[in-house]
Amino acid sequence: MTSETDAKQIADAAPRPAAGGRAASAPLLGRATEPTIFELSQPGRRSVQLLTTGVPEWPVDELVPVEHRRDVPVRLAEVSERDLVGHFTRLSHRQFSVDLGAYPLGSCTMKYNPKICDAVAVLPGLAAVHPGAPASLTQGWLSLLVELEEVLCAITGMAAATLQPAAGAAGELTGLLLMRAFHAANGEQRHRVIIPDSAHGTNPASVTLGGYEVTTVPSDERGCVDMGALREVLDTDVAGIMLTNPNTLGLFEEEIAEIAAAVHEVGGLLYYDGANLNAILGVVRPGDMGFDIVHMNLHKTFATPHGGGGPGAGPVAVSERLVDFLPGPRPVRRLGGVSEGNTFSPSEFAWVEPSRSIGRVHSWHGNALVLARALTYILVHGSDGLQRVAERAVLNANWLRVRLAGVFDVPFDRPCMHEVVLSASTLRKEHSVKALDVAKRLLEEGFHSPTVYFPLIVDEALMIEPTETESLQTLEALADALEAIVVEARSGDQSAWAAPRTTPVSRIDEARAARTLVATFDARR
Ligand SMILES: *Cc1c(COP(=O)(O)O)cnc(C)c1O
Repeated sequence: MTSETDAKQIADAAPRPAAGGRAASAPLLGRATEPTIFELSQPGRRSVQLLTTGVPEWPVDELVPVEHRRDVPVRLAEVSERDLVGHFTRLSHRQFSVDLGAYPLGSCTMKYNPKICDAVAVLPGLAAVHPGAPASLTQGWLSLLVELEEVLCAITGMAAATLQPAAGAAGELTGLLLMRAFHAANGEQRHRVIIPDSAHGTNPASVTLGGYEVTTVPSDERGCVDMGALREVLDTDVAGIMLTNPNTLGLFEEEIAEIAAAVHEVGGLLYYDGANLNAILGVVRPGDMGFDIVHMNLHKTFATPHGGGGPGAGPVAVSERLVDFLPGPRPVRRLGGVSEGNTFSPSEFAWVEPSRSIGRVHSWHGNALVLARALTYILVHGSDGLQRVAERAVLNANWLRVRLAGVFDVPFDRPCMHEVVLSASTLRKEHSVKALDVAKRLLEEGFHSPTVYFPLIVDEALMIEPTETESLQTLEALADALEAIVVEARSGDQSAWAAPRTTPVSRIDEARAARTLVATFDARR
């Protein structure tokens, strides 16, 4: 597509300002829906009026050559600052967020994120730096990145890490490409990657994207990898195994040392899906369990609000034998000086390209401000604090497990880690109230829903991750609310079928938005 048709398509697709009237005359509160910013638009209205500075304007022809300029101005919403703030404030009141209340969405780690991380991420010295600025001018940023890499390696027990991947799934793909590069360097073409049946959905997707075939191993009756089944599928065609430990049932793989030995024996690598490190921070390290590659979701464990498409970061840490394959360039701490003739003071930090790098997986420094937030979170907690995060996360989940044992079915009744998987199987069979109904009904009580129908191997699964940030009083209120919903259902009350009745939207078709994607809005309709 040429840039001209590009611009035209964008211009055609962009909404036009409303003819006026509709949005302006609607009552502010009690609207069924909030108008779009384009419907609030009034020609000529604006939020800021820049004062002239007296500096002569640069001739626009010199700045943007004629052939690169659009003929028709881009249609942007024209609103006053007051209307702008009102619009987004009203929108923010229409949804649930980690700042509003408990968000026990299992596997997603929706914990409260300390505001100090926001404060650091908006520091102009960090936020206003051009990513293309040379290393000599960005020593502060480079030292931040290097320090973060070092602490992430200390936490995971690995040798080095890349900070580039933009999210967990991007980290997984990076890890699989590293796996591929490692085997290729040994002159080997392996085809299969093993995944347990309880795995997060991104794992098999990443394996396929990485050019491997998925081999699934079943879980045993205790919810862990079935060792016998694993040995049966292991051979020299296996590139590696992807595991989450604690696994997605919230259970610790107790035979991890045996698993590691068996996979290494056939020349395979161990990949650790560390999206949720909450359970093990400062307590046990994937590197010590025998893992070769670890990705972390900084947006889950290390404080960046995520969900709804927010930014993330999925650094990948590796053991010594994979360091040379990492994506480049990598920020490094230079121990020696800088070559003579350098006009700047000797740089302590620099960019280097790993010798056998798989190449870039993100532009520039990765999602740098997410990285800054993560380092802030880690430094504020210190190693003792991080260990307490893990202890509290595990304690909270187990408190709920015991408290809710008589309320729901508990498929794996043994101590869990940072999340607990319950089941509404009996409730559905006896009272036709499903896990989904319970989740929707809970929204009316002021709590976000837990994860439902995952892991796939548990019937009517309700996966609750309270996180360490909720108090005992909040856990009690959450458990009371869940119990009341079940008591209500058992009494024959079918309210849950219609829930949620108090939210801006009730049950929506969850698949339709993805299947019939409408990415633009035309206010002329
Ligand atoms: C969230 C999650 C992922 C995927 O992370 P994204 O940042 O959403 O791509 C992978 N594995 C597990 C276990 C997760 O919980």
